[in-house]
Amino acid sequence: MKILLFGKNGQVGWELQRSLAPLGDLIALDRQTVDGLSGDLFNLDALRATIRQVKPDFIVNAAAYTAVDKAESDTELADRVNGQASQVMAEEALSLGAWLIHYSTDYVFSGKGSTPWQETDAVAPVNRYGASKLAGEQAIIESGCKYLIFRTSWVYGARGNNFAKTMLRLAKDRETLSVIADQIGAPTGADLIADITALAVQQVQLRQELAGLYHLAASGEVSWHGYASHVISFAQANGEQLAVTSIHPIETTAYPTPARRPLNSRLNTQKLRDNFSLHLPDWQSGVTRMLREVLNK
Ligand code: NDP
Repeated sequence: MKILLFGKNGQVGWELQRSLAPLGDLIALDRQTVDGLSGDLFNLDALRATIRQVKPDFIVNAAAYTAVDKAESDTELADRVNGQASQVMAEEALSLGAWLIHYSTDYVFSGKGSTPWQETDAVAPVNRYGASKLAGEQAIIESGCKYLIFRTSWVYGARGNNFAKTMLRLAKDRETLSVIADQIGAPTGADLIADITALAVQQVQLRQELAGLYHLAASGEVSWHGYASHVISFAQANGEQLAVTSIHPIETTAYPTPARRPLNSRLNTQKLRDNFSLHLPDWQSGVTRMLREVLNK
């Protein structure tokens, strides 16, 4: 089996390089051109040519324009990478009879209410990033190719920057941190997303009827403030010397950003768990594991 992975050096892409490797011949690309293969999602012709040359059984797209605030002004780039490139992949997957595995976001929803979003709920993105990701989803669904789309939330990886590392860095120098307490979601490890992807890739080869749109997030829910408190408590309990003595909860309105953020990022993952017979661990276990790794505890 041949798997073509885009975005190999992103948080999820990095973990997919590990989890997909045992499944077959993995060709993993970033935006550079290597051996005539281009992983640059801005260059749609080169993207199409690359897929035609590789002829994969599975296309896995972990590349995306993820700079949520910049997307408000950089709309053309966000739309091309998140929307049109997904359409090209879907068209090529259809003509090859290949699967397309793609990732999307809870930001396709309005963020209203407090009920976890189901796959069937109405979409209404509140920012340009969400709109561009929704365009990508719709292009894939309308293409008629075999696909899995995983909508996820609040992704972190041990590699690179993440919210927890930022909190730890700030907590070393500052006595007080102010963190948003009215956005609720579930921090979800890139490693979990990659592992679930590999399991799903195996299962859909035997059961094509599992194709579709799924919500994929760690279990439980927390605010950014609760997440930060968990991170700081763990670090202090494990001997990290931090200056911080208080973590203030603030409202989203007190921290203006170019892009609006949805308040309700909760995702209902029942469909994924039922269809694939999977268990999704609580968010604390993945975050604690990541902290042990980055703090070497
Ligand atoms: P990252 O930002 O860590 O990785 C995205 C990758 O895409 C980077 O390696 C980036 O490369 C690459 N990329 C950006 N533009 C292009 C381009 N024009 N051509 C080729 N590659 C490009 O994202 P995540 O791993 O966190 O996200 C994976 C998926 O999950 C995405 O679909 C995202 O929308 C979705 N998601 C992410 C969430 C999050 O909190 N991060 C939340 C919900 C969904 P480079 O580093 O060179 O720019």
